[in-house]
Amino acid sequence: MTEFKVVEKFISINGEAVRAGELSVFIRFKGCNLRCNYCDTLWACEDGAEYSLMNTEDIYEYIKASGIKNVTLTGGEPMLQEGIGELLQRLGSDTDLRIEVETNGAVPLTDYYRSVPDNVSFTVDYKCTGSGMEKAMYLPNFEGLRSIDTVKFVVSDIIDLDKAAEVIEKYRLSEKCPVYLSAVFGRITPEEIVEYMKDNKLNDIRLQLQMHKYIWPPEMKGV
Ligand code: SF4
Repeated sequence: MTEFKVVEKFISINGEAVRAGELSVFIRFKGCNLRCNYCDTLWACEDGAEYSLMNTEDIYEYIKASGIKNVTLTGGEPMLQEGIGELLQRLGSDTDLRIEVETNGAVPLTDYYRSVPDNVSFTVDYKCTGSGMEKAMYLPNFEGLRSIDTVKFVVSDIIDLDKAAEVIEKYRLSEKCPVYLSAVFGRITPEEIVEYMKDNKLNDIRLQLQMHKYIWPPEMKGV
């Protein structure tokens, strides 16, 4: 059975997207194919990051023992883990669970949209210009989005907001699924984003704050 490299597992509130504020079990996987210049989990992406090996049943049992229904698979980049499809099928076969995969927008998802169970959703990031990683975005991911998925634009400044507005319009994203604008903590204020939304009449788009960074110290792990 495939073994996954897990650098952290814990229970906390979901800080982002549709289930923000609800309890969730987090499984954080090692490794990422991007290096965003604002990354707050770079330690999990590095070759030398310490990890535990867990197979599918280990992860499932950890989740069930927690008594929590929401599951957040994150990283690093979880969709790079060998065997991730098998894990999504296994977790999704338990209809008591709601599995959210936080993915960086640079890994093709089209086949997964079609094959994963309905209780498995993707929160797909779009890393804007300010991240330094925009060229890596895999835009066909926006074609097959389902209503249970989410798109999140991570914005540093007004240039990023302009790009977000352009991509939302081009792919008609707000007609497909919930769409969020998420501030890079410390680079742009929520007020600036709200002003932009007002000025540009961004209907059906939501501001997202990284809730855990307001509750705990921004650099704190395991929350
Ligand atoms: S995609 Fe996420 S984990 Fe990877 S470098 Fe960017 S912010 Fe960090």
